[in-house]
Amino acid sequence: MARALAEEARELVRSARALLAEWAEEGVEGEPRARRAATAAAPASRTASPPGTAPLEAPPRGDAPSLDQVRSELGECTRCRLHEGRTKLVFGDGDPRAALMFVGEGPGEQEDLQGLPFVGRAGELLTRMIERGLGIPRSSVYICNIVKCRPPGNRTPLADEVATCRPFLDGQIDAVAPRAIVALGKPAASLLLGRDVSITRVRGIWHEYRGIPLMPTFHPAFLLRQYTEQNRRLVWEDLKAAKDRAGITAPPG
Ligand code: URA
Repeated sequence: MARALAEEARELVRSARALLAEWAEEGVEGEPRARRAATAAAPASRTASPPGTAPLEAPPRGDAPSLDQVRSELGECTRCRLHEGRTKLVFGDGDPRAALMFVGEGPGEQEDLQGLPFVGRAGELLTRMIERGLGIPRSSVYICNIVKCRPPGNRTPLADEVATCRPFLDGQIDAVAPRAIVALGKPAASLLLGRDVSITRVRGIWHEYRGIPLMPTFHPAFLLRQYTEQNRRLVWEDLKAAKDRAGITAPPG
């Protein structure tokens, strides 16, 4: 009886911890929920383009656009309100033929200034995880975001902003054709999974996007805020699984 109660209490503590981690990852202690509107987007589709965006339909693999084509189609984009506050558009960075691709949320302050993804504090952590953790150069992977312009005050991109940028993310995925994709954080995971997900529930589990294995994991900014041994271990497991799935054999550094 006492043992059953103790086990129940442990289970309650585990659930509470998971819930707190999820809230923290979703920024519950920061921004009000209403502003973190809708990153839950339409289900993944190879063809749908939101109204008012350039139709960059996903062609069959052999016929994929190059990254340069996707970049030039994007141009000096003014398709959504995010262009109004940007310094530089942040398209992507890395090997155009990478086996492993990382998709984040959107540029922050440093990214906006430099025109490169993941170069601020969260980016430094991501770079360390790739280079020291996985033992591969950052330049050997491809890194981009679901939106290419910095949302004001680093807020989560809104559903229409995400939908407007989505054809270009899809174009990048088709162009690079990685063997595995890592979705960093809830907004990227929600977009690529086609529903509003809890990152705590979907991380560590293989999914698929456009026929490519997809591993959601915690965003490095969350890891910076909750730098616990457990969170680090979980992200390490996810990244290691993604590296293996991508067929990258370099030993961890
Ligand atoms: N966070 C992101 O999601 N992307 C970046 O490029 C930088 C921080």
